Amino acid sequence: MVMLLFLHMVALVIWSGANAARWASASLAGQFFWLRISMLGTLLIQPTLLIFALQLTRNSRSISSSSLILLWVFPLLGLLAVWTNDAHHLVYHSLGFRLNREWSELVWTPGPLVWMELVYRYSLLLATIFLLHQSSHHGSALLREQSNTAFLGATLSFFGDASLSIAYLISGTIFDASPIIYTLAGVVYYLGIIRNRMFDLIPVAHTTLIQSMNDGVIVLDLHNRIVEINPAAGNFLGIKPEEAIGQPAQSVLFNWNETTQPFWGVWNKRTEIIVSQTMPRHLDLIITPLLDEKNRPFGRLLVFRDITERKKNEAALRIANHKLQEQLKEITRLRDQLRELAIRDPLTNLYNRRYLQEVLDQELARAHRAQYPVCLIMIDIDHFKHVNDICGHKVGDEVLQFLASQIALHIRRSDTPCRYGGEEFLIVMPNVSIETAHQRAEKLRVTFASHRWPCSNLTIIPTISIGIAIFPFDATDPEQLIDAADRAMYAAKRAGRNRITLYSQLDQTQSAFLQ
Ligand code: GH3
Ligand code: MG
Ligand code: MG
Repeated sequence: MVMLLFLHMVALVIWSGANAARWASASLAGQFFWLRISMLGTLLIQPTLLIFALQLTRNSRSISSSSLILLWVFPLLGLLAVWTNDAHHLVYHSLGFRLNREWSELVWTPGPLVWMELVYRYSLLLATIFLLHQSSHHGSALLREQSNTAFLGATLSFFGDASLSIAYLISGTIFDASPIIYTLAGVVYYLGIIRNRMFDLIPVAHTTLIQSMNDGVIVLDLHNRIVEINPAAGNFLGIKPEEAIGQPAQSVLFNWNETTQPFWGVWNKRTEIIVSQTMPRHLDLIITPLLDEKNRPFGRLLVFRDITERKKNEAALRIANHKLQEQLKEITRLRDQLRELAIRDPLTNLYNRRYLQEVLDQELARAHRAQYPVCLIMIDIDHFKHVNDICGHKVGDEVLQFLASQIALHIRRSDTPCRYGGEEFLIVMPNVSIETAHQRAEKLRVTFASHRWPCSNLTIIPTISIGIAIFPFDATDPEQLIDAADRAMYAAKRAGRNRITLYSQLDQTQSAFLQ
């Protein structure tokens, strides 16, 4: 950028220097020579100023290099035409002196190329002014101020140039003072450099923020054309930023179309999308509107980050987590199974003695707090030894299993049945009156006794003896309660078996004796 302003200034110096030399020269040949030199300056002034403005306003990348070359074609051809004018007279037809009182003036008849040069010069100057004017309304405060300064310089050049061209058209002389105007414009640029440090801040900020970002940055205009794209975005898309600029976003981001279709009209969005590059890539995409000072949108900013690796890690983590959950479930299931095994009797599937101790402690504590009774029913099969002896151990097992199934049928969900010993069973019945407990036990006794067991050529009819004790009336702790139920059961045995005895029915002497 500095280089271009410098070139612009050099062109001005050539122009104004050659003009001064022309005025100083007394001979026609001398004036003619310096006129041609000054034309060299003329042809260089506009392209250098326009490219400078393009760079200042950050539009240089939107102009392809071939258009930039074209910009120089006219000056080069013009230069050639000036030096070969005698052969074609495209620049001027005739050249002569008009003698004034103070100085002799070069007078000419301009050829078609002069008019073309005028058109060329004003087109470029107007384009420059337009660019700077645009940029003096958008962008950062610093850029606006810089553009304002350059705009002032370029406008000055335009009016100076225009007024002098008009003067020439009226008077027909070649006295051209536009170098003075351009030099004035140069002073404005110079002041702009000093005041606004025109070349310091913006390139640094631009490079730091956009060019060196790892995230992809794309700026779209209102027609979804790419007006800015940083190298990270270019790398990701496999396109050179300078080739992408000016292109419609849909054609550059064609791989994104399917997933981003819903977002083309969206101003504000943060989303994750999957785009198909050589492999599908996950992108975290942020769309933000770009607003001017009146809060009107003039484009959109797309910032994206490749989060494929993060997504992969997350997926791996999810799988690992899922496996862990499954393992945890299996462990819990095995633990429950183990616990069941630990608290169940394998033959009858009722709870075992160890579990009963646990439950009885809890139930009595709870009953004590809530002030309700707990009945304990102790059951023992009568003459079970004979069953085994006569029918065999296997049938004995079946009888045990049958009794267990009948116990399970005759209790509530809140009751706890367990196999206490070989052919002894206990049922804990919380919050039940002694009468209810007795009724249930009686039903059980009758049902069990009604079952016949064919065995060899005999039929056996096993029976049960039952003892019932109730907390807190018969006993106040678990051990005493079991003991009381046991005593009641033995009392039933002594009384003839196949019956129920309540601990409270035992006469005290018998109880005392038994103790
Ligand atoms: P009582 O009427 O006085 O209770 O007489 P009983 O024969 O039932 O009493 P005893 O305690 O002498 O006999 C209990 C028998 O229960 C002894 C044992 O062989 C049998 N037994 C204990 N556990 C099992 C078992 O798991 N399976 C089988 N088949 N028999 C068992
Ligand atoms: Mg028995
Ligand atoms: Mg027994």
